[in-house]
Amino acid sequence: MAGQAPGRERWLPVVGFEGEYEVSDRGRVRSLDRILIHKNGFMRRVRGRLLTPYPITGGYLAFRARRRPTTVHSAVMAAFVGPRPHGMEILHWDGDPSNNHLENLRYGTPAENQDDSIRHGRHGYATRRVCPRNHRLVPPNLVPGRAKQGIRWCRACNRAKAQLHYYQKQGVVLDLQVESDRHYAQIMAPDPVLAPPIPGPANPKLTLDRARAAARPGGGVR
Ligand SMILES: [Zn+2]
Repeated sequence: MAGQAPGRERWLPVVGFEGEYEVSDRGRVRSLDRILIHKNGFMRRVRGRLLTPYPITGGYLAFRARRRPTTVHSAVMAAFVGPRPHGMEILHWDGDPSNNHLENLRYGTPAENQDDSIRHGRHGYATRRVCPRNHRLVPPNLVPGRAKQGIRWCRACNRAKAQLHYYQKQGVVLDLQVESDRHYAQIMAPDPVLAPPIPGPANPKLTLDRARAAARPGGGVR
């Protein structure tokens, strides 16, 4: 994740799941070692692990705490700032809904949220011409919902990220540049019939074991 804050990462319990899940001021989520008691009375020790949040509508990230979907930004704010005041929303300062570092989040009114969108529009998302992976930001390579808000969001990268996440769960780590390039080629192809197909992964880089090892807390990922 870009823009790591200096100093130590701070962890606090996820509100409502104390002793089970923790969230950090860098927007990471982990489960803790715990003992699960099954209905038949059988007890099982479960090792804690770093969770991989998944993207949801709007580009936000979510995770499941005891199977209940929870957004990362709301978990960070509830843990580090407190409950969300009535009528307030959670605002992402840089306009990136997947940047859940504490310093990027704040409670604000819907009107302030609107102001932020305009500010992000002026500062790049409305005017930039290529995405960080060098795909042109022109229709049809724009995420439609974002385009309506005047934000140019790369559709190819968006699709590739969802795909990467899907494969990561199966222990296959894909290259974002390669996969997003493939999606870009298909999105921008003049005739869908001529478009290169998007079958399975192009270049599984890591084996299941290595991917799991890397995903462990302190295992070297990010
Ligand atoms: Zn892109």
